[in-house]
Order: sequence, then structure tokens, then C-alpha cells
Amino acid sequence: MTAATLYIDGCWVAPTHRNRFSSINPATEMKIQLLAAASPKEVDKAVTAARCAFEGDWGRTRGSERAGFLEAMANDLEHRAEELALLEVLDNGKPLAEAERDVADAIACFRYYAGLARELDERQDQPLELDDPRFSCRLRHEPVGVAGLITPWNFPLLMAAWKVAPALAAGATCVLKPSEFTSLTALELGHTAHAVGLPPGVLNIVPGLGGEAGQALALHPEVDKLAFSGRPVTGAKLMGGAAADIKRLTLELGGKSSLIVFDDADLDAAVEWALYGIFWNQGQVSSATSRLLVQEGIADRLLERLVEATRDICIGPGTEPGVQMGPLVSASRYSQVMDIIAQGKQDARLLTGGRRPPGLLSGYFIEPTIFDEPHTGSPLWRHELFGPVLSVKRFKTDEQALEMANDSLYGLAAAVMSSDLDRADRIAGQLRVGVVWVNCSQPTFVQAPWGGTRLSGLGRELGTWGLDNYLEVKQVTQYQADAPWGWYQR
Ligand code: NAD
Repeated sequence: MTAATLYIDGCWVAPTHRNRFSSINPATEMKIQLLAAASPKEVDKAVTAARCAFEGDWGRTRGSERAGFLEAMANDLEHRAEELALLEVLDNGKPLAEAERDVADAIACFRYYAGLARELDERQDQPLELDDPRFSCRLRHEPVGVAGLITPWNFPLLMAAWKVAPALAAGATCVLKPSEFTSLTALELGHTAHAVGLPPGVLNIVPGLGGEAGQALALHPEVDKLAFSGRPVTGAKLMGGAAADIKRLTLELGGKSSLIVFDDADLDAAVEWALYGIFWNQGQVSSATSRLLVQEGIADRLLERLVEATRDICIGPGTEPGVQMGPLVSASRYSQVMDIIAQGKQDARLLTGGRRPPGLLSGYFIEPTIFDEPHTGSPLWRHELFGPVLSVKRFKTDEQALEMANDSLYGLAAAVMSSDLDRADRIAGQLRVGVVWVNCSQPTFVQAPWGGTRLSGLGRELGTWGLDNYLEVKQVTQYQADAPWGWYQR
């Protein structure tokens, strides 16, 4: 079946060419749907529609009006939450319980930005105190214009929500290009927009290939702002392209995050968060704590428990009850991770996993895998593998743990487990990352800033920072008519 899968200017439109791509169920390797791939011409139509909508009424709406649309979108998504979660499992492979949480988080994201859209009305024309009484100044927060939103496949609906909701709240218009591996739930956002009567052109969705649709969107001169989540190599390309017309840019890129367990940590909690930190979403999480740094005194006990618990993880299609880990997203990701595991055996001791699980003959399944003591130059330790692979190293002192954690090209997140909260706080202050978790790993909140340092990206999403990404701040400065001043005619 080929659906008319481009949502442009408020309509589902048939593509003008024959370029197609398939969405594949990673648990079965079977085709779910054939989708139209947007060509640069169609991306141009979508951007033009977004520009017209922005220059028309949408760019001048009040925040409270936009909040109404965002709340209606949240309600519509909530109404279809079950269906959306199932679609996410089929398209991406994640366990159903995780997909349900993603959908709930996406709904919460729309509700949260509805609140911020309303507050934006109160933030307009706020006075700014100047050090010269002859002038008064007030600030306006104005939408950035047309936002190009390019998303990855690991949290398809949620990553779209993280961008679409704040962009609409700010009064920007959007062209969303979801990942070619997982376009289905992002397309459902088009149905939601339609159902709630979002004006035509305010949200456009153009599935397609990165090098075609993605590139056309990223380089389009009528796009004012680009928000991207994906690999650093793609982010660097976008940054280069954005330089030509000084596009505003937010980049949420990869990570190689450490979970540091001190020997005064609660052992049960450390095992739990270590497992969750690397194996949820099959390790396909930018902030996954794929490096485990354990203090020597606790290392043997922790590893024994961790390996045992890892072997108990239930793997299978995400739709099956009790499944804790599903397949990787695609055949190419499966081969890449398997290759790294094969090479990794030369760099470190394999403690568990590393194979296709027995009994799962099709689907992109990989056992949860733990390597012990890779050398620090090994790809296992240095690179983002984006799969269910944990590497463990031991340390003696706090300073050594910090040095090892900070010795990374990335700087997205880190986690610290210790019963000494002063120590945890001191370590948190010295980690060169955007997110630190203490005595936990991975919880993410729509109110809190998300983003990293170095190769992990540029800027922050979520919270008020997420809204500010789609706003320009304007100062309006006025001379007080009765004030004594003049430059040429004193
Ligand atoms: P990717 O860079 O391959 O693709 C991401 C998106 O960019 C896709 O929609 C793709 O089609 C598009 N794209 C590819 N080439 C393009 C080009 N030349 N121009 C414009 N668009 C292009 O990344 P991926 O494999 O989909 O996602 C995995 C990566 O995303 C990991 O590195 C992960 O850490 C990162 N990620 C980061 C965050 C975060 O919040 N920091 C969140 C999710 C994913």
C-alpha cells in the first residue's frame, strides 16, 4: 500500500514522482508500509506553505490562542495513545511499555508548551531597566519564522514533540522531516493537526531520505531556524550549511555517557540503574550510560549481580507481554553493532551477550552485552555504539573517576551513584556534561533543559530554553520627549 504521505499546507498530497521507501517492522523484517519520499521540490512547497502561514495570521496569533491548539493536540494524542504506542512498537521495535511512556511524554510536552505559550503573552513588552533615565526600553519576544525540524528514529514521536510543541507555542511555523526509518507516528501528528483545525501550513510533514528531503530542508533559504537531533556527523553538515545564511541552529547529537558507581553506593540501586541506563530502548539512547565506572571495592560484587540480571532480561518483539528489550531499529544498525562487538572481543573480555539471542531467528535482535576493561582507545570505550553494549572499567579515587568520565569527545550526560551526597555534588560540578543524574540514570523532564557540550551538540531543548529556541528577542527603546539630550543640536 502506498499512502499519500506528505502533509503540506493542511492537505495530504500525493507525491509528484515515484520515489518510495519502506517502513520495516524490525521484529519481523517485514514491510509495514511503502511511503512516498519527499523530493526537494516538495520540501520547497512545504517551506513555502509554512512561510505563507507565518506571514499570514499564525505569526500574529496570541500565545493564548496557540495554547488552545496545543492543548487540543494533546487531547487528540491522548485519545489515540494506545494506537500510537502500538504503531511506535511496530515501526521502531521498542517494548510496548516504553512506547506507552514515550506517547505519554509527548502528550505532556504539548500540554507544557501550551502553558508556556500562555505565559508568553504576559512576557510581552516587559520593561528593561536602563542606566540612562532619558530612555525607556521594553522587550518583545517574537517568533523566529519558519522552523525546519529534522528528527531521528530512536524516539520518533517524542523527538517530533520536543520540537513541534515549542515551535508552535512560540508562534513559528514548522516543516518536520522525520527519520526514514520511523516516519509513521510523526505522520500521525499531521492527522492530529488536521483534527484540531490547525491552520493550513502551520505544520507540514515531509518524510524522506536525509540526503534529499533532509538536505533540501536544511539548506532552504526560507527556513529561519533548524532544530536537529541525530548523529554528530550529520549535525556538522547542517552547521556548515547553516553558515551561508546564518540560520539559527539547535543540535542535539550523540553521547558516550558514564555511570560512576562509588563503593558507598546502594548495590541494588546501582544494578538497577546500570541496567536501565544502557539497555532501555535497546541502548539506542543518546544519553545511554554505556560506560560503567566502578570503584574497586564494589566492582566484583556489582559485576556479578549485573551480569546475572542482564542474562535474565526478556528479549523479543516489543508487542509481547513481559518483553524488556526489543530488536534494534534496522538491518544496518544490527550489522554495525554486531561488527563492533566482534572487534570489541579483541579489546576487552566479553562477560555476557554479544550474540543473536537463541530462538529469535528473524528480526534485528542482539543480546544485552557487557565488556570488561576495554583499553581506553577501544571503540567500545570511545565511540557511541548506539546499541545494547556496556563497557566497564574500574577506578580507585574520585579524581581518577572524573578524569576517566571527562576523557570523552562527547558531553551529554553522566550519572553518579553514592550515599555521600556532598561527594556526588562535588563530582556533578566537575563533570563536563549538560545533564547529571545523582543516584539514578536517564529520567528526563519536560521542564528541565536537555542538551550537551562538545560533540553532543549546541543549545538546549525542553523547558523555557526549548521555547526560546524559536523566539527572537527585540528591544524597543524610546527617548523620553522631555529629557534634555541632543547630539548635533545642543
Ligand atoms: P542521523 O544523523 O543519521 O539522522 C537524523 C535525521 O537527519 C534523519 O531524519 C535523517 O534522515 C536526517 N539526515 C541525514 N542526513 C542528512 C543531511 N545530509 N541533511 C539533512 N538531514 C539529514 O541520526 P540517526 O541515526 O537517525 O539518529 C541517531 C543519532 O541521534 C545518535 O547519534 C543519537 O545519539 C542522536 N540523538 C540525539 C538526541 C539528543 O537529544 N542529543 C536524541 C535522539 C538521538
